[in-house]
Order: sequence, then C-alpha cells, then structure tokens
Amino acid sequence: MKRRRDFIKLGSALGVSALMSGCSSSEKTKSFHINKNKKTILRIATSWPAHFPIMGEGIERFAKRLEIISQGTLRVKVYPKNLLVPALGVFDACSSSAIDGYHSAAYYYKGKNEAFNLFTGFPFGFTANEINAWIDFGGGMDLWRELYAKYNLVPFKGGNTDIQMGGWFKKEIKSLDDLKGLKMRIPGLGGEVFAKLGVRPTLLPAGEIYVALERNLLDATEWLGPSLDTKMGFHKVAKYYYTGWHEPGSMLSLVFNKKRFDSLSDEQKMMIEVASNELNSVMCSQFQVENAKQLKVVEDAGVKILTFPKEVLIAAKKAMLEVADEKSQKSKDFKRVWESAYSFLELNKRWTDIGLKAYLESR
Ligand code: CA
Repeated sequence: MKRRRDFIKLGSALGVSALMSGCSSSEKTKSFHINKNKKTILRIATSWPAHFPIMGEGIERFAKRLEIISQGTLRVKVYPKNLLVPALGVFDACSSSAIDGYHSAAYYYKGKNEAFNLFTGFPFGFTANEINAWIDFGGGMDLWRELYAKYNLVPFKGGNTDIQMGGWFKKEIKSLDDLKGLKMRIPGLGGEVFAKLGVRPTLLPAGEIYVALERNLLDATEWLGPSLDTKMGFHKVAKYYYTGWHEPGSMLSLVFNKKRFDSLSDEQKMMIEVASNELNSVMCSQFQVENAKQLKVVEDAGVKILTFPKEVLIAAKKAMLEVADEKSQKSKDFKRVWESAYSFLELNKRWTDIGLKAYLESR
C-alpha cells in the first residue's frame, strides 16, 4: 500500500500527464464508451495485390484487430489493388469520397505535391525510428495533416519497410564512372539523385523487372530488402547486392477520407489511431525478421554484398541536397516540409550516432 502511495506521489511530482504527451486533455479524462448501436464499415483500397507479403498482411491484420477492439462496431473491408481502383488511383478515389480510405505510400503521389515525397522519407534521411519520432513529436504529422486536408484526406502512419538495400547490380560498381549510363529501375528521390550521377533511372512495372534484368535490358534494380527481393528472384540474375542509402526507413501511409473520418465517434477515431500505431510497428518488426531470414538465401546464392565506394556516397549525398534545393525553389510546401524534416534529422543524427551507431559498432 505504501509503495502504491509513493508511486502516485512520484507520478504527480514528475507530472504523469507529460509522459502521456500526444493525448489531448479530453482524451485523458473522458471515459471510453463503445456505442454498440453505431456500426461502421470502412472500405479501404490498397496499392498492393491481395495478401501481398508483409505490406498486404499488415493492412489485413489492421482490419481484424480493429474489428476485435471495437467489439465488431468498426469493420474494415480491404480491397487489394485493381479490385475497386487501380494501385495508384487510391489517392484520388479517397479524396473524391469514392472509397473511405487507402493503404499506400505518400511518395507515389509526388505528382500532386512534391512535399509528399518527404512523408515516406528521403535519401540519407530518417531511419524507421527517426521518422516515427519526426511524425509523432517533431511536427511531421501536423504538416502531413495540413497538406492532406487540402485533398479532403486524413493520414496516419501505415507501416515501415525498415532500411532498404541499395539494389541489385549485374556488374560491380568500383567508381563514380561505373554509374554513368547505367539503366536502373529506381523510383522517387533516389532516382533523381542517381540521375545527377549519370544513371538512367527507368520505371518498370513489378512484373517486368526480373525479365529485363535477366535479358540485360536493365543493368540494375532496387526493390526493398532480402525479404521481398528474394521473392522476385533477383539473386538469381544479379550477383552484386549493395547496401542502402536511398530508402533508410520508408514509411507507408494509412489514409482516410476526411469527411468520412470526421463523421466517426471520438472512440472510433482513437481506435483507428491505436491500430495504425500497431500496424506501423508490427510491420517494421516483420521486415526485420524476414530480411534476416532471407539474407541467408541471398548469401547462399553466392551474391556479393557490397557498400558503394565512398566517392559514390559522397556525390549522392551532395546530389540529394541539390535536389532538395531545386524542389524548395519550385515548391513552398516542399521547402516547409524539408526544413522541418532536415532540421529534425540534424538534431537526431547526433543522438543516433552517440547512442545506436556507437552500440552497433561495439556489438
Ligand atoms: Ca524501394
């Protein structure tokens, strides 16, 4: 009993409310009541095929968990790509209220606004842990919510791929010169950075990459990490696998139609938020374990795992800052989000180096 009293005293001295930051004051005091008479069905379309490993499994798990914790009052129907809308049509479909939500990645919609790139991540940018910190406590979510509100959308964290590999190459990259004229499948900001180094980025649908690589129509491709890359069979046709730099912790997005979301009860909104946090962290754990398991498949196939030469990485980092500069000049939104993300990265890099990096080097 005494211990409990001491704990309570300690709690008020520390200001337990501060430990719960992220909750509004109404969330702290209000009782949680599930209205069994309010039953809601949300139709969520995805950019992935049905039961797609890890990403597709993640959103299916989210749907099941939400149904359980809401005691059956909040059901999510998941529609894999092309069932209701094409893979990359989900943003528009949700914005126009044709669907209630979607599971995808923000950088696919950079055509709407260049700033959206940054809500997935950026080359030489955040690790999975750091982007979560930026979104939750560094102002990232406020910017994301503000920019998506213009499209009648409300975004949540939707999973993380964890660090991605730099890709599969048919020939070893020994210098910057070896990149010149190379045809590589690499989308997004990574592609724009590599283009500045002389690479010719090409975009190919997932189903065509393996054959293009096998027939030398493509010199290199990035995809994700061992977890999904081995499923594509890349280890059978390319013998050099480079460590990552361009997608160090890509975050996926779970997005709702704003009008629809606003019509939900406070409890339903909170359950979605809680389940989205679980989706985000569990997906990252699953990538960790699947990457670890499939790395063995890569190594057993005799693939050489290498890191790009220092001059390539230095040039790529410089090119990334140029790309960010150019985009900042063209887009006010990009500039605002970049300044927030980059200053948060600078602040956190120091701690990540002192904490995690030092530990990893001594482990
Ligand atoms: Ca990728």
